[in-house]
Amino acid sequence: MPSVGDTIEVLDHGFVRLDAAEATDLSVVNGARVSFLQMKQGPDAEVDAKDEGLIRFLMREGHASPFEHNLFRFHVRCPIAVAREWMRHRWSSFNEHSLRYSAAIDDFYIPSAGQVRTQVGKPGAYRFEPVDPETATRAQDLLGKHYQEAWNRYQELLEMGVARELARLVLPVGIYTEFYWSVNARALMNFIALRNADQAMWEIRQYAAAVEDFFAAAMPATHAAFVEFGRRAP
Ligand SMILES: Cc1cc2nc3c(=O)[nH]c(=O)nc-3n(C[C@H](O)[C@H](O)[C@H](O)COP(=O)(O)OP(=O)(O)OC[C@H]3O[C@@H](n4cnc5c(N)ncnc54)[C@H](O)[C@@H]3O)c2cc1C
Repeated sequence: MPSVGDTIEVLDHGFVRLDAAEATDLSVVNGARVSFLQMKQGPDAEVDAKDEGLIRFLMREGHASPFEHNLFRFHVRCPIAVAREWMRHRWSSFNEHSLRYSAAIDDFYIPSAGQVRTQVGKPGAYRFEPVDPETATRAQDLLGKHYQEAWNRYQELLEMGVARELARLVLPVGIYTEFYWSVNARALMNFIALRNADQAMWEIRQYAAAVEDFFAAAMPATHAAFVEFGRRAP
């Protein structure tokens, strides 16, 4: 079971690390029971079967606010293309590595051969299928050469004295970035519902699966109820 301080490696150079968490099933139970001033507090407070029933009730009925009294802080390393999708999740907080203040990370995402895929069908109903091995190798080579060329141009611009904030314009969205992401369980479930799902881009799905592992370990009853009631955030 992954916990605070653990790192789950994702893609070829990425990871999700749980930097800190103040997140328990009890936070949900107490968020609801404060209505009756019947909270469970103190070092021996534990979630029992009745509490788990309450969590299931809250999830099923969409009583969402008790799921907000907690916080996960993740440290993430992913390609900018993935970060771009991730940062659409407004109900959370981000701070990202600055390419104005420091140089870029010299790591670029190259999909494994099995993940070089083609897109079949219409918008809204795409299927993704693997390409043949020869095309996969060619695509990997092309990406690698392009990344190298982009990196060389980036270095050239820096050596010419061009500011980092302008030199970065040549960098592709396959380059890795790092950020901190702080989020409560309600918004986290929305992220997981949308991104650890069939319709999500395969790469962000790998990250969302790692995030879900941390969530399930920290808040097992809440996660179980989330799964039971259709993987939808309340
Ligand atoms: C498969 C997939 C394809 C996508 N394709 C595109 C695309 O082509 N183009 C594109 O631009 N985006 C796209 N997105 C991004 C998507 O539209 C959302 O911006 C993103 O998933 C964040 O979801 P969210 O708004 O629910 O999350 P959050 O921003 O975290 O919001 C959480 C919840 O808060 C509420 N909320 C937040 N802000 C508002 C608001 N302003 N008004 C009312 N309620 C609010 C909503 O209930 C929302 O679900 C795609 C997402 C997925 C999963």
